[in-house]
Amino acid sequence: MTADRHEALVVGAGPVGMTAALALRALGRSVTVLEAGAQDRLRPGSRAIFVHGVTLGVLDRSCPGLADTLAAHGVLWHTKRTFYEGREVFRRSYPPPAPGRLPHFTSLPQVDTERHLLQACKAAGVEFAWNNAVTGAESTSDGVVLTTAEGARWQADYVIAADGASSSVRKAIGTVMAGDRSDGWYIVVDTEEDPADPLPVERVFHYGHPAVDGRNVLLVPFAGGWRVDLQLHDTDDPEELRQGDGLRSWLRAVMPPAYAERVTWASSYQFLQVVADDFADPHRRVLLVGEAAHLFAPFGARGMNSGVPDADAAATAVHLALSTPVRARAIAAVEDFAISRRRAALFNRDAAGVSLEHLRPDDEVRARQRAAAEGAADDEKLGHWLDIAPYGPREAPPANTIYRY
Ligand SMILES: Cc1cc2nc3c(=O)[nH]c(=O)nc-3n(C[C@H](O)[C@H](O)[C@H](O)COP(=O)(O)OP(=O)(O)OC[C@H]3O[C@@H](n4cnc5c(N)ncnc54)[C@H](O)[C@@H]3O)c2cc1C
Repeated sequence: MTADRHEALVVGAGPVGMTAALALRALGRSVTVLEAGAQDRLRPGSRAIFVHGVTLGVLDRSCPGLADTLAAHGVLWHTKRTFYEGREVFRRSYPPPAPGRLPHFTSLPQVDTERHLLQACKAAGVEFAWNNAVTGAESTSDGVVLTTAEGARWQADYVIAADGASSSVRKAIGTVMAGDRSDGWYIVVDTEEDPADPLPVERVFHYGHPAVDGRNVLLVPFAGGWRVDLQLHDTDDPEELRQGDGLRSWLRAVMPPAYAERVTWASSYQFLQVVADDFADPHRRVLLVGEAAHLFAPFGARGMNSGVPDADAAATAVHLALSTPVRARAIAAVEDFAISRRRAALFNRDAAGVSLEHLRPDDEVRARQRAAAEGAADDEKLGHWLDIAPYGPREAPPANTIYRY
């Protein structure tokens, strides 16, 4: 509890909140992170395994060396393969990155990224207030007062809200999320690497896997294990295929059987494609970042990879706003953040939506996929199209390149 007024408070010690805190410290600002959970809280699942090279670059600017640390703890697959109804239609291998260069991406469990971010934050002097669930946020032109479940009040000039998909701060400032929920269910599974039967480190997508009744399957390696996504038929029961024998039987059909006994996490989900109607409160004192501001379908990996540049841009805006005695300039700095990051989020939502058009194709897209699969042996471009389509376009939002994704 504190009666002091802070320059900046961050709500939420997920990857996006910690990125914002780290960026504020790099700009010379003091910052405290209020987190609802305990420091040793369990965060289930591998979640944001695919950490894009641009994300590594953004983190490295705030904490030189952090990108190398994450890359050293992640894996990089050099081969991508795509199958259509059991037949390989695309395979490409890439050389490893040149020595001294950051990789295009690294793949590691989100909890590991968070562990390294936490260490970096502590080394940089970020303060943490664990077990502080923010329940209220009152913003005026003078600043913000946050209240917690315990009844504590925290005052700040600016608040960066990174409290995730159910953001209490977003609700408190009256911001609304708009968008759709995609039809269709998916099961996502983490399974530990079997040292007795390690698999080649390759990313593999199956259109209509014949061993699982023609469902789409994605297999992605990460440090220590594999992530497997199964796209369900409309008639499937997600609960049945998410656990017990239902889970083991389809997993055994797409991986060596031992992997079905090494499952560490399984979840069923539908995609949300939603974006906040404004990324800041009317007084331009509260800035929304990460999943507090947007949720995308995970194919294309635009979740954490767009939350990190949100956080970096929010920290820069808060620093600029604190640096000027002219209120109108401070408002303009936050406004720039809100407009540019919302534009990026809309772009990312649409890009993730393109991937859904390929995962849940209409008759026309299905016919194009079939024709491409038939022609892939003679024309590599067709196989390449099949390979990249499930992840949506590769382009980043057309903003300042340091705020890509
Ligand atoms: C299956 C799956 C796969 C994914 N794969 C990828 C991927 O490959 N690449 C990618 O970029 N993204 C991926 N994502 C998305 C990624 O996991 C999220 O974008 C990321 O976790 C969002 O980070 P965040 O910090 O905004 O929110 P969160 O990670 O949700 O963190 C929010 C934090 O705020 C805290 N909190 C909540 N409420 C309060 C409160 N009232 N007061 C104080 N603290 C609070 C929470 O305890 C938590 O610590 C994936 C997600 C899923 C589910």
